[in-house]
Amino acid sequence: MREFHEWPSGAIEALDQPPRGEMMMRLAAPRRFKAHARAARFLAKSAVRIFGNQSPRQCSLCGHEGRFFAYGFPLTADVTCPACLSLERHRALALYMSRTPFIAGKEVLHFAPEPGLSKFIRDQGPKRYVTCDLFARNVDLKIDIEAIALPDASFDVVFCLHVLEHVDDRRALAEIRRVLRPGGLAVLMVPIEEGLDETYENPAITQRADRLVHFGQEDHVRYYGRDFRDRVRAAGFALEEWVSKEPDVLRYGLKRGERIFLATKADGPA
Ligand SMILES: [Zn+2]
Repeated sequence: MREFHEWPSGAIEALDQPPRGEMMMRLAAPRRFKAHARAARFLAKSAVRIFGNQSPRQCSLCGHEGRFFAYGFPLTADVTCPACLSLERHRALALYMSRTPFIAGKEVLHFAPEPGLSKFIRDQGPKRYVTCDLFARNVDLKIDIEAIALPDASFDVVFCLHVLEHVDDRRALAEIRRVLRPGGLAVLMVPIEEGLDETYENPAITQRADRLVHFGQEDHVRYYGRDFRDRVRAAGFALEEWVSKEPDVLRYGLKRGERIFLATKADGPA
């Protein structure tokens, strides 16, 4: 990094220059204090953005209109609806479902059900709605997604949001396909790094602390790349995608570019 006395007087550099008092501190302070000062400025900017942002949003799940709250680590502004606690992905899915209804009269299985989303799905009039999870309480069935204890071809729709990155996804996708009826729909969402051609996995990484470093969360087992789509197709699905974009992102507080993967059970062996 260039020191102050090396800075030329060009217009672009001038835009970068801090106030004079701060420049004197930069000259005098050891490098590690400069790093602390930079972090403090970043925190101050973040606080303004997170707590000072008054942009109103509209919740596509519960209808709440007003300011959304920051959420996550690190904190991100405008993520959670204070009325129903929905997150960006829940609102994206609710928006999609309100525009393209597909629940009425269907038998629906929902893994790791999100409370606000569960209510929204129930209100869409399914013929049967079953919630399930391996660990959570307050679900209808305790089920391992890698070995689903349900008959073949018993559901029309399966919801599986932010689950596959925690498990053996090849087994899970095969099991989801098995319990779906022909032409049935799996609604899948995962954290995905679109800049990665190939999913990053490393079976040697098994400790929670190591998984946090390698995969971004203590209980994740991979970072999905763009080839997530290949995995879904290889499991016997035809794939369509819905993407969060403007004007919906600003209005409903969505994550720009987040995708809903709509996987239809393709013909083939059950
Ligand atoms: Zn809401």
